[in-house]
Amino acid sequence: MAKVCVIGAGFAGHTAALYLGDKLGRNHEITVINRGDNFVYIPSLVWVGIDRMDVEKTMFDLEGVYKKFNVNFIAGAATEVHPDGQYVVAMPNGATESVQVDYDYLLVATGPKLDFEATPGMGPKVGNTWSICTPPHALEARDQYLESVHRMLAGEKQRIVIGAGHGAATCQGAALEYITNVHKDLLRRGVRDKCDLTYLSNEPALGDFGIRGLSVPMKGKITSAEEFIGAVFKDYEIHSQIGRGVTSVDKNSINWEDMQGNSGDTGYDFSMLIPRFLGQPLKFVGADGEDVADKVINPVNKMVTVDGIYGLKYDELEKNPDAWPAVYQNPNYSNIFAAGIAFAPPGPISRPFINPNGVPMSPAPPRTGMVSGIIGRVVALNIVDLVQKGRMTHSERMTEMAAACIASMGDSMWDGAAAVIMVYPVVPDNRKYPNEQGRDQFVTHMEMGLAGAWMKRMIHTTFMHKLQGRIGWKIIPE
Ligand SMILES: Cc1cc2nc3c(=O)[nH]c(=O)nc-3n(C[C@H](O)[C@H](O)[C@H](O)COP(=O)(O)OP(=O)(O)OC[C@H]3O[C@@H](n4cnc5c(N)ncnc54)[C@H](O)[C@@H]3O)c2cc1C
Repeated sequence: MAKVCVIGAGFAGHTAALYLGDKLGRNHEITVINRGDNFVYIPSLVWVGIDRMDVEKTMFDLEGVYKKFNVNFIAGAATEVHPDGQYVVAMPNGATESVQVDYDYLLVATGPKLDFEATPGMGPKVGNTWSICTPPHALEARDQYLESVHRMLAGEKQRIVIGAGHGAATCQGAALEYITNVHKDLLRRGVRDKCDLTYLSNEPALGDFGIRGLSVPMKGKITSAEEFIGAVFKDYEIHSQIGRGVTSVDKNSINWEDMQGNSGDTGYDFSMLIPRFLGQPLKFVGADGEDVADKVINPVNKMVTVDGIYGLKYDELEKNPDAWPAVYQNPNYSNIFAAGIAFAPPGPISRPFINPNGVPMSPAPPRTGMVSGIIGRVVALNIVDLVQKGRMTHSERMTEMAAACIASMGDSMWDGAAAVIMVYPVVPDNRKYPNEQGRDQFVTHMEMGLAGAWMKRMIHTTFMHKLQGRIGWKIIPE
């Protein structure tokens, strides 16, 4: 009987757990360890943050789902991995003693550590800026946002700044969705004229998203994401400050440096800034109790190293799509895999940039929910292969992966909208697509309209259905 342990039940780990349970659950031992009791559908936290969705609607209980799939569940934190002894130490929530979970195969799918500390003065703990990355954060952000709305209703002018709070932050799509939803919400509340809305980002250009931007044929001409998002911002009267690496935050101002090395600040009354992401802290302990972290994680970003080619210069990486991992397997411990934000990418997708004062202005590669789910499935199916056939038959590099992003720009079914962005492949492959983009110009697509708002709602419902392992879950793509 094989033992499989999955740490983390987000898009990557939970998707993997469903496939593992479905294929191996009856005859083998699958255990998931996750900090909380619930799966959280993070994309809908954007709507929680403007009080347009109850937080309960973004979650469901994991235990019940795992029972159906013959998967053991520990709600608690994994603290140590012993790669030589092949076990994980975890502290179940509310317990005083830790437990040991043995494994033959381990999947690390712990998502990001939200590294607010990298930007002094930033984040909900300090109380200067807010976040919508977790349910408690989104609730706090909502309350602060509503406080600003009250002030506007009382006639006061407010400045709202939303964006990325570090030169190396990623996930700009979430910030973009939040700011456009804030715009629509303020319109609905009749106070839009009382608010200055600013999008502040480390992207080298608007619409870069850490994936080197995109351009698509639209109405007979090639349109870049910069022009596309720029037109939306013009229409919504959202100011943008791009190419800014936030260095610190004070009570009333966000301090940054730009690409030329100039420093400046942006005043705010309410601000939601996405922090830099690091790998979650886990101890990796060898046979004699020694630290073996250097065999498992990248020392800089703390993410798990897998079968990518690391250390290439950007120009080399750009020319080598095979440098991106295919099976997400650690090179030193072949039974350890990583998926989602937990795996270390071989380098950036957008060209890295450091300003004359050494401040990085390089959005890190995003691994969105869809990408994380796909990788979770690939890893799970390979573990099934290894258990049943002794060899892996699945692989998918981010240079072969399509990703759809539906960025909500107002949730109303009547006057809402969404930008539907389809990118293929996520990481440009200039070898296969020798155009300026390195992407398939037929599949890569951008569209804006009310239909997108319907799709975004539908996706919430469809994914909550799929991820609860309900009927037909497997035919709904990640
Ligand atoms: C506001 C917002 C909106 C977004 N919108 C979209 C969108 O529209 N479309 C899209 O595709 N993507 C979107 N994303 C990105 C998407 O949410 C992430 O890419 C995705 O959640 C990453 O999945 P993951 O499984 O790697 O990590 P996570 O979803 O973060 O899951 C990791 C899990 O591991 C658990 N964990 C961590 N450490 C431990 C430990 N030591 N022990 C046990 N458990 C642990 C965590 O509690 C968590 O449950 C959005 C992100 C944000 C913040």
